[in-house]
Amino acid sequence: MSTENKETEGKKSLNFIESIIEDDIKNKKNNAEVCTRFPPEPNGYLHIGHAKSICLNFGLAQSYNGKTNLRFDDTNPEKEEVEYVESIKEDVNWLGFNWDGEARFTSDYFDQLYEWAVKLINTGLAYIDDQAPEEISKQKGTPTQPGIESPHRNRSIEENLDLFTRMKNGEFKNGECVLRAKIGMDSPNMHMRDPIIYRILHKEHHRTGNKWCIYPMYDFAHGQSDYIENITHSVCTLEFEVHRPLYDWLLNHLYTEGTIRPTQIEFARLNLSYTIMSKRKLLELVEENLVNGWDDPRMPTITGLRRRGFTAASIRNFADTIGVAKRNNVIDVALLEHSLREDLNKTSPRVMAVLNPLKIVITNYPEDKEEWLPIENNPEDESMGTREMPFSREIYIEQDDFMEDAPKKFFRLAPDKEVRLKAAYFITCNEVIKDESGNITELRCTYDPDTKSGSGSEASKRKVKGTLHWVSAKHAIDAEVRLYDRLFIDEDPGGHKEKDFKDFINPDSLKVLSNCKLEPSLKDAEAEDKYQFQRLGYFCVDRRDSKQGNLVFNRTVPLKDSWGKKNK
Ligand code: ATP
Ligand code: MG
Repeated sequence: MSTENKETEGKKSLNFIESIIEDDIKNKKNNAEVCTRFPPEPNGYLHIGHAKSICLNFGLAQSYNGKTNLRFDDTNPEKEEVEYVESIKEDVNWLGFNWDGEARFTSDYFDQLYEWAVKLINTGLAYIDDQAPEEISKQKGTPTQPGIESPHRNRSIEENLDLFTRMKNGEFKNGECVLRAKIGMDSPNMHMRDPIIYRILHKEHHRTGNKWCIYPMYDFAHGQSDYIENITHSVCTLEFEVHRPLYDWLLNHLYTEGTIRPTQIEFARLNLSYTIMSKRKLLELVEENLVNGWDDPRMPTITGLRRRGFTAASIRNFADTIGVAKRNNVIDVALLEHSLREDLNKTSPRVMAVLNPLKIVITNYPEDKEEWLPIENNPEDESMGTREMPFSREIYIEQDDFMEDAPKKFFRLAPDKEVRLKAAYFITCNEVIKDESGNITELRCTYDPDTKSGSGSEASKRKVKGTLHWVSAKHAIDAEVRLYDRLFIDEDPGGHKEKDFKDFINPDSLKVLSNCKLEPSLKDAEAEDKYQFQRLGYFCVDRRDSKQGNLVFNRTVPLKDSWGKKNK
């Protein structure tokens, strides 16, 4: 899309990042090209915060005819990265985005980064410091007090080159020496006080094996990787604002005229109420079995949201709606759920499912009779058509939809009361059957044959207080339904000093109902199929545990935000 398009489209005003990009395009900066990147560290599964960053980076490239790279920031040699790499790729694709070319890895640039480090040494801009790490950090000073120069700061270039080569060749132990950029210990920005750019780590890397025992620090690797990849706009979260002077300083000294030069732009990270968004904490939940893996439907991971029944479109819309901010804030998780309901309302077929069945025998309905009654699939969308539902003498309704001693305002079934069965007939309750302990086991009702739905008869226009969903007992199929609720009962589970975030886990975040009855059209439901169970909420077929003949559904969200009410 050209600059003019985005502006004249007039859908909404530009956000501050779009403004920067449009200015750069107008000024022909970097040949008016746009290339962004998404740079996850493969040390966990992606969460909804990452989704925001993905939608932003890929979205910007789409708006301006650009490209987006997927780059794994694997400067930390870690062991189990392969699983994470694969999951990250899958999640980005599922969200609906394709990166340019192959996925890239910072470790692919270790040779180039090493060369650049040598170049800094050669120009007198980096030195080896072999003081103890504690000593180096002691000399850093404070935000109000300048730091102290290392006694090794003025080593000769030759000596530095020799030491750096020996560092690379493995002659020193972990922590014995580091390479530091020579910038200034009196800088008001702590990150500019001769930051460490290479360290020794005798550890095998999942891609480079044992080739390296020195690894670049994030600040050195990141900007230079952007530069290597011809990234034009390096969008990152606010905490990196204070690193930007270093990002620019390094480029100033390594940049070659005529090449693409990246700019770092910061935006506020997404924070969601009732949610934890740190990979370290999410890993804790997984490792301590407080959830059932990274894709547990209660997890704020992309794979968890997917399994819960979120659609990629609803996540993209959410990311778009919240926009980009320059200041940190907290977004209400209800907004994410709202975006989901909006999407599912339009796209998911309505079906009938009874989660806590109560049997009804319709005594005046012939035993051998069955009728197939037409019912629309989605009142929001006629094009989704109709289907037929079987009706017979024995049906199930929700236990909740019957009360023996009903208060006045109870508009569902009660003794001697009449209700409408959605898309079928009116029934009246005549008798309540109980077991020895007094539990209601069955209701005896009669139906009025003149009240058939859609018949247009006078009787069917009679006023009844409630309309219930139901399924025919002999046609129903069995399913397990998992009711998920928020994982945390606190708005900011990670924000308490005296308490651990795990103290706020919602003990009722999962309820399993194993005796649910579904209308027969759901027999062939496949993994990830999404439905609105009428009057109950949105549900999807669990992609991990559901099998033909052994259906498992997850409740994605109830129809309305019950938490909003609870908190008022
Ligand atoms: P975490 O703190 O959750 O472990 P991280 O920032 O360490 O996340 P990375 O893998 O380094 O995770 O993140 C990849 C990209 O996603 C970075 O550009 C980062 O800024 C962005 N990102 C991470 N969390 C959020 C968030 N909550 N909102 C927006 N962007 C985020
Ligand atoms: Mg990180």
